[in-house]
Amino acid sequence: MNKTQNSADRNLLRINVGFLLSQGAGYARTVSFDRPGTIRVDDFLITDLAGDLRLTRTPRGVLVQGMLQAKTRLECVRCLTAFEFPYEVELSELFIPIERFNREEADPLDDEPNIITEEGFIDLAPIVREEGILAIPMQALCKPDCKGLCAQCGQDLNEGACDCRTEPIDPRLAPLRALLEQLEDEE
Ligand SMILES: [Zn+2]
Ligand SMILES: [Zn+2]
Repeated sequence: MNKTQNSADRNLLRINVGFLLSQGAGYARTVSFDRPGTIRVDDFLITDLAGDLRLTRTPRGVLVQGMLQAKTRLECVRCLTAFEFPYEVELSELFIPIERFNREEADPLDDEPNIITEEGFIDLAPIVREEGILAIPMQALCKPDCKGLCAQCGQDLNEGACDCRTEPIDPRLAPLRALLEQLEDEE
């Protein structure tokens, strides 16, 4: 995917909160957020991001709270099939207008600060990506009882049994068995 496409994608995760800035502290609005389809943020795919967000004007900026549902694409560690992994993003983040941020607390270590742009937009992409990466399990399975691939012929055992010998083989002995079969064939 080219870079232009990537930045166009990212813009889909921006929300206009500028209308809140002209309101007094305590003013709140709930907005429905719905982004069907798949959005790429850097190295991460976000699919069907949706949920309700509570936006509250605070003395310093806009507080964004809520729960978003999303999916990302993973590969099953057993059967190697790609599948959609659902995850949730719980948000409770304060966003600060860029002018105020620059004046008060420019933190050189924070490369993705929660800022409201001059045009009144916030970008949820960094948070949704980061939470997604944290939600991914070390051993991702397409389903809890995935049967995996046959160690001998590679058949996806979820789609049916293969013709390989059914007696369990200690995988550490498999090379020895292959050697014995080879010797048998040569006789
Ligand atoms: Zn699987
Ligand atoms: Zn097999």
